[in-house]
Amino acid sequence: MQVIRIPVLSDNYIFLLHDPQQNIAVVVDPAESQPVLAELSKLNAQLVAIFNTHHHADHVGGNTGLIKVFPELKVYGGIEDRGRIPGQQVFLQEGDRIQFSDRTANIFFVPGHTRAHIAYYFPPASPGEPGELFCGDTLFAGGCGRLFEGTPGQMVDSLTKLRALPDHTRVWCAHEYTLSNLRFAVTVDAGNADLQKRYQDVKAQRDKLEPTIPSILGVEKLTNPFLRWEEPSLRATAKSDDGIQTFARIRGMKDMF
Ligand code: ZN
Ligand code: FE
Repeated sequence: MQVIRIPVLSDNYIFLLHDPQQNIAVVVDPAESQPVLAELSKLNAQLVAIFNTHHHADHVGGNTGLIKVFPELKVYGGIEDRGRIPGQQVFLQEGDRIQFSDRTANIFFVPGHTRAHIAYYFPPASPGEPGELFCGDTLFAGGCGRLFEGTPGQMVDSLTKLRALPDHTRVWCAHEYTLSNLRFAVTVDAGNADLQKRYQDVKAQRDKLEPTIPSILGVEKLTNPFLRWEEPSLRATAKSDDGIQTFARIRGMKDMF
């Protein structure tokens, strides 16, 4: 399974999962249909499924156009998104497993950004290889999604599930927000040397217009303030000794940043 990154709109990424043996593909969160169709015809591949993480327009905007061209494809999304995802046929919940090519994705229910958000995780194909996490707008490189329909407690539970995955997991989040996330992160975790180094590295990458996605989960654990509510440095910034309150206050500061 190859993962192909398609940049669309101002800062979204669509991910195409491609099986070159069978010439089939799955698309994750198609914001638009045209760029996906263009990539599929380059690959000469048939689209067999859409994996949606949540119902926002910049994640499902391409569903209808893709269904028109591939009427047989299956549209997957979270069970709580029933009625909100165009063409949805499969209603997923925590613990479900779905097959693509020779791989199986595990479904995590990760409410917080929306009340219905799910993530798709493909464990490593063989030992030593990375797993692949498609987490939509829940975990970002250096940040996390805004809380539109969920509480800080729900988001902490959701991020706790994702944080438990192996360090070498590749994080395929849906937006190129990394630089602005890190610009904020250094203001709340200034003494974190790993974070300072990452901020410099990402600045250099973005100067060259290089993508910063996928990121590596182990790097997120060391540098992402929204995975570090237990850390004394972040608790000091938040003036709290409680994990959820620390997370909530840091999230609030980011909303105002
Ligand atoms: Zn969203
Ligand atoms: Fe989004």
